[in-house]
Amino acid sequence: MIGKKIFWLHALRILRRRSDSLREFIVQKSVLVCGAGGFIGGHLVKRLKAEGFWVRGVDLKFNEHAETEADDFVIGDLREQSLVRSVVDRRFDEVYQLAADMGGAGYLFTGENDADVMHNSALINLNVLDACRKRNIKRVFYSSSACIYPEHNQLDPENPNCVEDSAYPASPDSEYGWEKLFAERLYLAYNRNHGMECRIARYHNIFGVNGTWEGGKEKAPAAICRKVAETPDGGSMDVWGDGLQTRSFLYVDECIEGTTRLLRSDFEGPLNIGSEEMIAINDLARMVIDLSGKDIRINNIPGPEGVRGRNSDNRLIKEKLDWAPERPLHAGMDKTYAWISSALARKHNR
Ligand code: NAD
Repeated sequence: MIGKKIFWLHALRILRRRSDSLREFIVQKSVLVCGAGGFIGGHLVKRLKAEGFWVRGVDLKFNEHAETEADDFVIGDLREQSLVRSVVDRRFDEVYQLAADMGGAGYLFTGENDADVMHNSALINLNVLDACRKRNIKRVFYSSSACIYPEHNQLDPENPNCVEDSAYPASPDSEYGWEKLFAERLYLAYNRNHGMECRIARYHNIFGVNGTWEGGKEKAPAAICRKVAETPDGGSMDVWGDGLQTRSFLYVDECIEGTTRLLRSDFEGPLNIGSEEMIAINDLARMVIDLSGKDIRINNIPGPEGVRGRNSDNRLIKEKLDWAPERPLHAGMDKTYAWISSALARKHNR
């Protein structure tokens, strides 16, 4: 008699456990992050996990600086159509397409990598978007760039014009910008012709911890942090250009916030996601030198520098999302400098 009771209690417990995991499986929403091993992708996966999604990441590599939190991580090449089809194997609730062949000014503006940048990123976008359409996935986020804006609107470092509708007549200053513009149009065409609901952001210089800080693909904030950390007190460091060229920089947390808000909104974009706190590159270098507490001279040398001035214009994001980034640059640079200088110290101690 007691044996029978134990048997039924045990059976009931197993049944309950099974139905719990079935319910979780049915209710839990799933997300695909392409470029999950990259800087922004790594932060995005972390955020989506915190929101309770089941997350699959895809990339050529794992992130070098932090363990992935993705439930499933596929190491693969998104230029290969068969790989993309196997990865897009279900109707994901959200897809974020961040994978691209990219880097900082030294990678994108010297002309040396133009063919790879255009070929690789175009193939990734063509493959991912079409695989999503075939699976009847509606919501795909695409990360375009401020690099699509015409060069002639960014000649005055004090007054660049990067309002969203100034993109045409098009004249980006790099092939990277031209490929991004092509991809924007591709995503919009799929919305128009295939009933998709893709969302397009134009990121403006995203920076923060766990980003590339050496090796040639690093961006200005990380490169400056590394140079300041490497330079001894009383020494000097090189900065490309005359240092009067201006930019704005957005800390990665606010980029992720804007990204998820845009994907879940009714506005297809393109929409700037950036900071309006414009700064000259030499002033950015001075900010980091102050943070380090060192006395370092700036040595301006010829080098690839991109357009003369660029700043985010946040009027449209405020109107469409009722939200805009507001964190001061200094706070983000403080965190980033601390992270890069300790990464450098760890490297030298190895
Ligand atoms: P990132 O280089 O750190 O991440 C891109 C990732 O894509 C990398 O991990 C890379 O390995 C992966 N990738 C490249 N080719 C691939 C392929 N064939 N198959 C699979 N994975 C591949 O760059 P990020 O800073 O994280 O930028 C993410 C996206 O945002 C990119 O599309 C970039 O163009 C765009 N964007 C970034 C910025 C910025 O300031 N970081 C500014 C404007 C636009």
